[in-house]
Amino acid sequence: MPLKFLVTGGAGFIGSAVVRWIVEKTPHTVHVYDKLTYAGSLAPLAAARGNPRYGFEKGDICDAAAVASVFQRVEPDIVLHLAAESHVDRSIDAPGVFIQTNVAGTQVMLDAALRRWRALTGEAAARFRFHHVSTDEVFGALGPQGRFTEDTPYAPNSPYAASKASSDHLVRAWRNTYGLPTLVTNSSNNYGPWQHPEKFIPLMIANALEGRPLPVYGAGTNVRDWLHVEDHAEALLRVAEAGRAGETYLIGGDAERRNIDVAHAICDMLDEIAPRAAATPRRALIRHVEDRPGHDLRYATDCAKIRRELGWRPRASFDEGLRDTLRWSLANRGWREGNGKEETGERLGLAAQGARA
Ligand code: NAD
Repeated sequence: MPLKFLVTGGAGFIGSAVVRWIVEKTPHTVHVYDKLTYAGSLAPLAAARGNPRYGFEKGDICDAAAVASVFQRVEPDIVLHLAAESHVDRSIDAPGVFIQTNVAGTQVMLDAALRRWRALTGEAAARFRFHHVSTDEVFGALGPQGRFTEDTPYAPNSPYAASKASSDHLVRAWRNTYGLPTLVTNSSNNYGPWQHPEKFIPLMIANALEGRPLPVYGAGTNVRDWLHVEDHAEALLRVAEAGRAGETYLIGGDAERRNIDVAHAICDMLDEIAPRAAATPRRALIRHVEDRPGHDLRYATDCAKIRRELGWRPRASFDEGLRDTLRWSLANRGWREGNGKEETGERLGLAAQGARA
């Protein structure tokens, strides 16, 4: 049955992949509500423009009156809440906006969702879901062994992770206090087309293409579990359509890699598919820079629950997914000019050290 989706943050990296997935692969309608911060862009949504099942509206999730109005007009069955400040390094320099958007904004969304759900009856009420999109960073750092599960205790370390953990707790409270039919998904690090060039993989790709230094934090031994954004989009749809209300599902790519190995893979693949004039291989561009303060050593997700209950598993192997992302990056070079610092390969997030110095 076709559902009405309201997607916050739909002009962001993951949100736009979800919107494209809905428009291209489902009968559902989708209305995007997005503030178009520095992180948002309409370019990744161009494929959906003109489709009668797609709508876009610029707005702030912290603006309760505007949010109430969009709920009244759209009458969503599923609220897919992705709008957030999402860059860990920025949260170290300026945590305030992370608390405002990720925590206070989520409360505004929960209040609006609760009002809508309470006004529904019968099948419409049974169908309604508030699906909160979160991160595995809420669980803190792992040592060399083990994986996060849905039962791992929360232990966020960065201001970003703490703001997402807070929002997850609000969702839990709205479920347990008011009975709101919620879903929470915590995913691992995403990569793929249309990611903002301040994030690790697109920054490495952009710098490698331009012959600029590739800044790798510390020794580069931090491990992340990489999830292709289209696999994430499919998982989110699976959970939104069939997940059990009140449940949490972990989503991961089954692709643990050390940062230094990701940087090497990008250099080697680019040397192969886009050889550069300079005789030296691109690996020579890698520079080890001062580590991020409080940098979590390792994240890894156990996705047994979503596989067992909803039959989802990642399709892309990391090598295939990365190769596709490199090809996409070559074809869409400069689709977005960054905000200065990240484009020159400098790093954000040094405020904590500055304060200590
Ligand atoms: P992004 O930074 O690319 O996009 C965020 C979007 O939210 C942007 O379009 C921005 O304009 C919008 N936005 C920001 N503040 C807003 C506000 N106040 N009102 C309305 N819209 C606002 O982020 P992303 O990487 O696509 O992540 C999306 C969600 O998934 C976030 O909640 C993030 O915490 C979560 N997540 C991301 C990853 C990842 O690897 N990128 C992993 C796990 C979870």
